[in-house]
Amino acid sequence: MKVDWMSQREHEHITQCRACGADVVFLRTKKMKLMPVDAATVAHDDYQFDDTKHVSHFATCPHADQYRR
Ligand SMILES: [Zn+2]
Repeated sequence: MKVDWMSQREHEHITQCRACGADVVFLRTKKMKLMPVDAATVAHDDYQFDDTKHVSHFATCPHADQYRR
């Protein structure tokens, strides 16, 4: 994935899943809970979780059981 200085700046909220090391972005759900989302599905200006376009990392993480601990 190409990353220029602008998108890097926009993606300062990217973090790594502590279980599998994947890039995830925490977005707010409508219930104001933080949800880890696969970074590849998050656009620069997305701040709220949208289940029609975002993929919850809980669904894709191979170690989701650790994550939930
Ligand atoms: Zn993970």
